[in-house]
Amino acid sequence: MNAEKPFNFEETPGKLPKEVVPMEYSVRIIPDIGKFTLTGTETVKLNVRSPVRRLVLNALELEVAGASIDGQTLPESAIEIDQKNELLTLALPSELAAGEHTLALSFSGKINQQGQGLFYSHYQEQGSGEKKVMLGTQFEATDARRLFPCWDEPVFRARFQLSAVVPENWLAVSNMPVESEKKIAGGKEVRFATTPPMSSYLNVFVAGELDLIESRSGPTLIRVIATKGKAEMGRYALESTAQILQYYNDYFGVPYPLPKLDQIALPGGFGGAMENWGGITYYESALLFDPKNSSAETKQNIYEVLAHEMAHQWFGDLVTMAWWDNLWLNEGFASWMGTKCTARFNPQWEVWLRRNLPRDPTRRVGIAREQAMEGDARSTTHSIQQPIATEAEANSAFDDITYKKGQSFLRMLESFLGDDVFRDGIRRYIAAHKYSNTTTADLWNALSEASKKPVGEIAAGWTQQPGFPVVKVNRGDAGEIALTQERFTANFKNAPPLEWKIPLTYAVVGGAPETLLMTAKTETLQNIPADRALKLNVNGAGNYRVRYDNVSWNLLLQALPHLGVQDRVNLLSDAWALVQANRAPVSLYFGLVEKLPASTELAEREQLINVLDFINRLLIGSPERKDFQRYARSLLRPTFETLGWEPKVGEGVAATNLRASLITVLGDLNDSAIIAGCRERFQKYLSDPQTLAPDLRPPVLAVVGRYADEKTWNQLHELGVKTTSIEEKQNYYSALAGAIDPKLVKKTLPIAITDELPTSRAIFLVSRVARQSENPDMAWDFAKANMKKLLAKTDALGATRYAPSLFTFFAENSRANELTVYAKANLPETSAPEVAKAVDEIQFRSKLKRRLASQLSAWIERKGR
Ligand SMILES: [Zn+2]
Repeated sequence: MNAEKPFNFEETPGKLPKEVVPMEYSVRIIPDIGKFTLTGTETVKLNVRSPVRRLVLNALELEVAGASIDGQTLPESAIEIDQKNELLTLALPSELAAGEHTLALSFSGKINQQGQGLFYSHYQEQGSGEKKVMLGTQFEATDARRLFPCWDEPVFRARFQLSAVVPENWLAVSNMPVESEKKIAGGKEVRFATTPPMSSYLNVFVAGELDLIESRSGPTLIRVIATKGKAEMGRYALESTAQILQYYNDYFGVPYPLPKLDQIALPGGFGGAMENWGGITYYESALLFDPKNSSAETKQNIYEVLAHEMAHQWFGDLVTMAWWDNLWLNEGFASWMGTKCTARFNPQWEVWLRRNLPRDPTRRVGIAREQAMEGDARSTTHSIQQPIATEAEANSAFDDITYKKGQSFLRMLESFLGDDVFRDGIRRYIAAHKYSNTTTADLWNALSEASKKPVGEIAAGWTQQPGFPVVKVNRGDAGEIALTQERFTANFKNAPPLEWKIPLTYAVVGGAPETLLMTAKTETLQNIPADRALKLNVNGAGNYRVRYDNVSWNLLLQALPHLGVQDRVNLLSDAWALVQANRAPVSLYFGLVEKLPASTELAEREQLINVLDFINRLLIGSPERKDFQRYARSLLRPTFETLGWEPKVGEGVAATNLRASLITVLGDLNDSAIIAGCRERFQKYLSDPQTLAPDLRPPVLAVVGRYADEKTWNQLHELGVKTTSIEEKQNYYSALAGAIDPKLVKKTLPIAITDELPTSRAIFLVSRVARQSENPDMAWDFAKANMKKLLAKTDALGATRYAPSLFTFFAENSRANELTVYAKANLPETSAPEVAKAVDEIQFRSKLKRRLASQLSAWIERKGR
């Protein structure tokens, strides 16, 4: 493996020449809200490092009307825009000498419908229900160049000073506080203070009829900003922001450097959250919490997303990866730090343990190690650090490997180095590189200095090569245990064999944990008592699987009541992964499940729920499905009976979450008592919503929607159209998408091409139908017939991923061929990795479906006898 070098400006990849560096921008924009266009001017102070004859910077879908250098106007012929490469080239009349110069430009562009560059969003105002419009920006990875010409690569840090003209009754927000406001013809001009040196993708501008609430944390003004009438629902986010800010100020050792931090809720335009420095943007339901109507899951999601985005204020904003090949530095780290912070202040949520499959396909944060490991076992995986040449590649780097494997590796590393040593390394790193850029090597160097361990050598196998290992455990004589590592793969013939330096942890059950850096293919543990269970990967903190021999496995089964829930969840996850990878029969997993002590442990039961849910969807159309559903209900029913329908006084949030999950999955498993109970509660809810606890609404609506008749479908739809709450809208439309009656599927799908849902969400209604309705074929047929209209609602990245993603719900090989043919005729080349992933997923599911169907029958029959 090639050891990566520490950050060096000259050697950082990218398209733009490095002779000219922008130092300070002053940008003025005038959006036209009627025409959805914009005009603008900018001046840029340049540091010319060696003489040049031309300037090369980025611009996309902009027209540049005029340019001057040091006050000297350039002829029109000197201005050249290369749309394909997203470059603006200015030919200079004479050589520009080294030193400081000033570039001035005037330009015009457009306001987009999707979250790319400057975008608009239509929404219904709270209270009045009136239709309104607002503006927002989304620049990561490469879209700042759509608003103003700039050196739009992360290594070109500069100061930015923005001014904008907006209607008088609007509030305008950017990275820095407002410096001045003045009335002008047609509205007001707002001038924001200048930012510290930062990467262009971290700029933000939001404006509309907005409200806010605010407080202070030390010297920092913190605000939650939302559309009129909704700011008070930001109270929970405001309080959490103060808590998280204090924690990070201490953890990073450098206090938050800007005078203010805004948390901004957007009702549409884009679907995620974005860490713009000092002005973080969120899809509304990831920020606003209504104590009367929001669920516990929503609250938890808000905290997790806040903690993730705020970690970026240091890791990403104050210190930025030099180039997109190190995107994981931003995302893996923020995912790990956000989860660590969430777990610290909210231990009851069990965030490290819960697999937490995102309900929302666009949501990227949240602990989902298992999901990342599933993808990382396939032939279509890639290493955490990967070469990035084009804008399309930069945008597609935002995937599970970058976020979740990155997070998982950092957690393993922290537990190996020790929490305090790890933190000291992070403090060194932040102090040494603030207001600058880095590579992964810089992080490893800081951690090595703090720990006196060769972190770079340990890390290389995990970040510079794909995949991860399984450690096989074999008991020998005289207390010796042989450990062997090999690459863990699934549906991946002839995988190149790889090895890792594994920071192993292990414990004789009941004893203290030990650590061992496994640096070779084999290793031996000594003096393990022959009659005692041995557990590797203590608390499941490591990013590897373990396969025990029969003797060791049986000892573990006997010792289950003495294992903590973290270790039991880890055994369940590994056993299921071995089954999926065809490395063990299904009896390994269900044998373990049936030996578990009765409990209502959230994370443990949720692991089981996720597996049963997965199998139930996989077996659609199989004759074995009915028997499986009966068996699955028998495994889950006892836990539901212990919890009951109604929240008990003083019960924890874990019980609340588990009840909701159980109702949903038992409904899907055709449990007639659950279905009847949901219908009864829905009837009462129709006449008085307050009769149904907010936590029960998503599951009850989902089950009612699944088995809906036309009348019920219409009732749900009407509720969805009426509400101005984005969270409630999601619940209703999600319920509609789950309807299994094909007549209703036909009614649901066309909603995706209306403007009932925010643009960023509408197309995912089709994905939900594909996943939940048991009719993925109808979803695909609809998408194929309406592809143009659907893709108009998403950006380029969405366009490459969308069609392949709809195929991942199929389990028939013929669909793999269909996708390949479709892609060849209809999709850009950049979609090839997504197509390959989907093809692999279909083939994997097809094989697994056949295997499970026969193995499950044998297992369930054995039970019957
Ligand atoms: Zn992030």
